[in-house]
Amino acid sequence: MRDVDVVVIGAGSAGLGAAKVLRASGLSFQVLEAMDRIGGRAYTSSETFGIPFDVGCAWLHAADRNPYFPEAQASGWTLHHHDMNVDHLYFGRHKAPESQETEMKNADAKLSALLESWKGGDDRLSSLLASGHAPRAAATFAGPMDFGKDFDEISIEDFRAAADLDPNYFSLEGFGALVARFGADVPVTLSTPVRRIEWSGPDLACATSKGTIRAGAVIVTASPAVLAFDEIVFSPELPEAYVEAFFDLPMGMLTKIPIEIRGTRLGLAPFEDMLIERHARHDIYFLCFPFDTDLLVGFVGGDFAWEMSAAGEAAGVDFVTDRLCDVFGSDLRRHVGRSAMTNWGGERFVRGAYAAARPGRAAARRTLADPVADRIFFAGEHLAGPLMQTCGGARRSGEATARQVVAKLRR
Ligand SMILES: Cc1cc2nc3c(=O)[nH]c(=O)nc-3n(C[C@H](O)[C@H](O)[C@H](O)COP(=O)(O)OP(=O)(O)OC[C@H]3O[C@@H](n4cnc5c(N)ncnc54)[C@H](O)[C@@H]3O)c2cc1C
Repeated sequence: MRDVDVVVIGAGSAGLGAAKVLRASGLSFQVLEAMDRIGGRAYTSSETFGIPFDVGCAWLHAADRNPYFPEAQASGWTLHHHDMNVDHLYFGRHKAPESQETEMKNADAKLSALLESWKGGDDRLSSLLASGHAPRAAATFAGPMDFGKDFDEISIEDFRAAADLDPNYFSLEGFGALVARFGADVPVTLSTPVRRIEWSGPDLACATSKGTIRAGAVIVTASPAVLAFDEIVFSPELPEAYVEAFFDLPMGMLTKIPIEIRGTRLGLAPFEDMLIERHARHDIYFLCFPFDTDLLVGFVGGDFAWEMSAAGEAAGVDFVTDRLCDVFGSDLRRHVGRSAMTNWGGERFVRGAYAAARPGRAAARRTLADPVADRIFFAGEHLAGPLMQTCGGARRSGEATARQVVAKLRR
């Protein structure tokens, strides 16, 4: 006996988008979410700073194609256009001379040209990068800060498939809060991780600690890392190509270390971008005082972000504060207020920031885009085509997958 037509696993951006399409189609569905809240990697919290802080996604990327952008406008969200433009560049503790800033911008354009002309061969992004401080500083925004991966772990083919995400908008109220608002009217069963999917019979059975739900199809929006860790056991096992694909799309990491700076602006204007380049391995990017709040929001990416998570919040905050003191002098310490560090690697049902294909394995995304036995469908940021890794892309992926499911079940 079928309980519902479709089970949706996960109430992040993809799962909520899928649920809304299913509801409009008239099919019955149930959304099962492991966490005690909706939104997944879209999460705004006012707990630490008393003002909204986006623990996960913050920029509304590709605003001209992002379904959340018109909704933010209609909801009266306070939006600020912010495309990346490094306003302050430091190599370690030394301010970069203007000539190096120019070299950095030229290096960025050169990398784009190299990517376009790439004809195959060594698929590691590192193979296209020139050496020197300025080219490395430019490449930080292609690698660790953007893709969440170090250059030698990024596939050129995968990287090239990602869209240019301009124009970008930042919001005062929070992207996580916007996604929560979008999903507020979707019925979701919270705190209910799916542990097992039996798919040998005519219907699927999704087992949770609160019981089993039978359905005609399932949309799985858990990250590839969650699936690689066998958080959901498939019985019978999935075809080998799918399991390989989970492992070929490991999660990159982006860790935010926001620090409150009280009583001084350090000569930095709201929304300016500052980069402290440290061998392109331990670089720190800062978004300065967004909306004139007291927050300097530090970001580290790639392997360093994983290392930082392992070292813990106190070590992370100390490291960032010390680097700021290197640049602005130790008097800065007097101005430091509250601080935090995000840890998406420690979220059991996410396990990282977003997925990126290993060099030579970009086809993994295509594998997962194909449903298993016309009944097990995957969706999420990792299957968002050119909008991969983004929250808007995740929603589009969920919506498109739900339309596919509706077409299959109606056939
Ligand atoms: C630090 C950081 C910064 C980012 N910055 C940006 C940004 O500025 N702009 C942007 O567009 N994007 C950004 N992103 C990416 C963006 O947040 C994600 O791409 C998007 O939110 C992913 O949505 P999703 O639905 O695919 O996955 P998720 O949000 O991970 O949703 C999947 C859901 O499935 C649930 N789940 C997993 N396993 C199970 C199970 N077994 N049973 C039930 N439920 C399960 C999870 O709990 C989760 O809620 C950022 C991400 C991070 C981590």
